[in-house]
Amino acid sequence: MSTPAVPARDSLPDAAGHFGLYGGVYVPETLMTALQELEAAYLQARQDPAFQQELRHHLKEFAGRPTELYFASRLTEHCGGAKIFLKREDLLHTGAHKINNALAQALLAQRMGKKRIIAETGAGQHGVATAAACAKFGLECVIYMGAHDMERQALNVFRMQLLGAEVRSVAAGQQTLKEAINEAMRDWVTNVRSTHYILGTAYGAHPYPMMVRDFHRVIGLEAKEQMIAREGRLPDELVACVGGGSNAIGLFFEFLEEPSVRMFGVEAGGHGIRRGEHAARFAGGRLGVLQGCKTFILQDADGQIELTHSVSAGLDYAAVGPEHAFYRDRGRIEFAYATDDEVLATFQLCSRLEGIIPALESTHALVHGMKRAKALAKDRIVIVNLSGRGDKDVQQVAKILGHQT
Ligand SMILES: *Cc1c(COP(=O)(O)O)cnc(C)c1O
Repeated sequence: MSTPAVPARDSLPDAAGHFGLYGGVYVPETLMTALQELEAAYLQARQDPAFQQELRHHLKEFAGRPTELYFASRLTEHCGGAKIFLKREDLLHTGAHKINNALAQALLAQRMGKKRIIAETGAGQHGVATAAACAKFGLECVIYMGAHDMERQALNVFRMQLLGAEVRSVAAGQQTLKEAINEAMRDWVTNVRSTHYILGTAYGAHPYPMMVRDFHRVIGLEAKEQMIAREGRLPDELVACVGGGSNAIGLFFEFLEEPSVRMFGVEAGGHGIRRGEHAARFAGGRLGVLQGCKTFILQDADGQIELTHSVSAGLDYAAVGPEHAFYRDRGRIEFAYATDDEVLATFQLCSRLEGIIPALESTHALVHGMKRAKALAKDRIVIVNLSGRGDKDVQQVAKILGHQT
């Protein structure tokens, strides 16, 4: 069977939550009702101008949208090729794109009459965004976090607590993100009537990948408008880092049907593509099911999830959002990876040349964006999604580079 043309964007996923081969709903029966109820509530809210207007208001007033599309003149000069623009999601409240989704889902929970919120967090960024949104709307907030991550990210734990959240330590397995998601799902099964689960990326069982994508679409909508206003045309290429895939699909979505625009998702190459040393699912993974959906997963021959490594906690996950797998098969989104060493060098370069300290996650996109800029002529344009700021990473980088702090 030949691969069909890319379906109209709004027809994806299908009614059962599939992006072609990928996605779907792989959860215990006890969660089916909750997911169906969530889908119905979301589809209704999506059509409701009052919901959309209230969301726009909070995104502006609380989160700080629209974010700038910034011409990185010195990075451009340094590369000597295409113009590099940065979409400044790092300027948002709580420091990254994650607030777009956390705020929107908190609003949706309120609409559904749910007063208790749970969420998972790895490095703590999604936990902090969720705790901030819950504080704002007066919702009870419980964040699940691996015990190992709580040690590594003690400052974010305190931030969440300051914002009124209860942070629950998860001691199972590797004591990181995967275990925190399992525990959040267990809580949801038990407390499904009172509780909404704010998942932090374009991943998991339907409707999450679709809903989280929609809540980040604003990134691409703004970027398109800003680029046309500024340069009178579309960009030639877009580059974004891919953990679960939310900031990337948020930027890409409005450009999927613009054939002149190339798109690159950048995964974590860690120490290089050897088992257990990276988190580049498209470089070493294969089809499987993990935490609610079917997608590309780093797993061994027995289906055991492999260990992953990345200098950036936000990209350090064994599976990738199903919509990315779908568009990769069709050649619409291309994938690359950046290694820890490349990221550490570019983290310093961007800070020095632009006066902007990028998040380690976002720096993966910058590494590849700069490679693309070098390969392109000076009249071409590349947009790199600067998904977050690097303040959270400064201490870790100082340690790696051997600075005293
Ligand atoms: C969490 C995070 C990511 C990775 O998540 P996606 O869902 O793939 O966007 C990327 N950048 C930053 C700054 C993050 O905090």
